[in-house]
Amino acid sequence: MSTPEVSVVIPVYNEEEGLPALFARLYPALDALDRSYEVVFVNDGSVDRSAALLREQFQRRPDVTRVVLFNGNFGQHLAIMAGFEHCHGQRVVTLDADLQNPPEEIGRMLAEMDRGFDYVGTIRRLRKDTFFRRWASRAMNRMREHMTRIHMTDQGCMLRAYSRDIIDAINECQEVNTFIPALAYTFAVKPTEIEVAHEERAAGESKYSLYKLIRLNFDLVTAFSLVPLQMFSFAGIFISLLSVVFVVFLAIRRLIVGPEAEGLFTLFGIAFFLIGIALFGIGLLGEYVGRIYEQVRHRPRFLVQAVLEREDTPKGTTRTAQLAAQKS
Ligand code: UDP
Ligand code: MG
Repeated sequence: MSTPEVSVVIPVYNEEEGLPALFARLYPALDALDRSYEVVFVNDGSVDRSAALLREQFQRRPDVTRVVLFNGNFGQHLAIMAGFEHCHGQRVVTLDADLQNPPEEIGRMLAEMDRGFDYVGTIRRLRKDTFFRRWASRAMNRMREHMTRIHMTDQGCMLRAYSRDIIDAINECQEVNTFIPALAYTFAVKPTEIEVAHEERAAGESKYSLYKLIRLNFDLVTAFSLVPLQMFSFAGIFISLLSVVFVVFLAIRRLIVGPEAEGLFTLFGIAFFLIGIALFGIGLLGEYVGRIYEQVRHRPRFLVQAVLEREDTPKGTTRTAQLAAQKS
């Protein structure tokens, strides 16, 4: 029994409205590739009927479907991590459940891997999101590009393909707060990027509130870079040097012009500025310390309630071979 050529990993969180459309487009698109495949859905603690729909789909296509059911909502990136642990493909493609990334693009990504690339990133052509999201993404992309050694044109697009080596490396990582495309990039030997189409969300609404987006970007930056911490130390050094100059100036002024009482508010201004910097620094330290704390607790990162898969799932049969087997 060999392993399938492609695994498609899909995190699902409250997507009941969009799932039927996803099934209807994903499976035919994969069948058309005529490569052996499996689809691994990870239900990230949905509170709607998503789990039931996934169960039905598993019963419909048990030969190529696996379902990992989480005990609660652990977030998109941990859901993908769990999918990685339960997939067997030689290549792994991640995809969103909302059909914003067309499953028909998978073939082109695999063709790119056939040419020897081990990481295929994507750039969304004509991105169909709100103006604010596009603007914020652009700003975050630029910031990440400066602060980390990770080069991605469009970090937000989750439609990506990874080689088995990268997946194995990710499975070794016990990170709690992470960002899969960036983590995978650090293990990639020969990465490339292609342009893919982007569509509006098929149904339901975005699962990312502004708050969750900000948290995600903190994860991205702090997980891959110490630059914020270092920038802060440099700012600290710079400001203390300035204040030394200022104190010397005041001392000389005291000797020549005499005591100064009028400058009280200047002092306030400067003090507030320094307090602001200090608070920001403490907060930044907290971001890192908090992550260290989460990491050292060694808690299980997610709890799997059940895995739906057939013991004897034939791994490595193409759709044509399956149909032939059914006929005979
Ligand atoms: N998702 C998840 N857990 C979460 C939030 C989102 O598994 O806590 C899944 C969601 O079901 C979807 C994907 O992650 O398949 C991307 O979410 P969404 O489309 O809401 O994000 P956006 O496209 O707005 O960035
Ligand atoms: Mg989406």
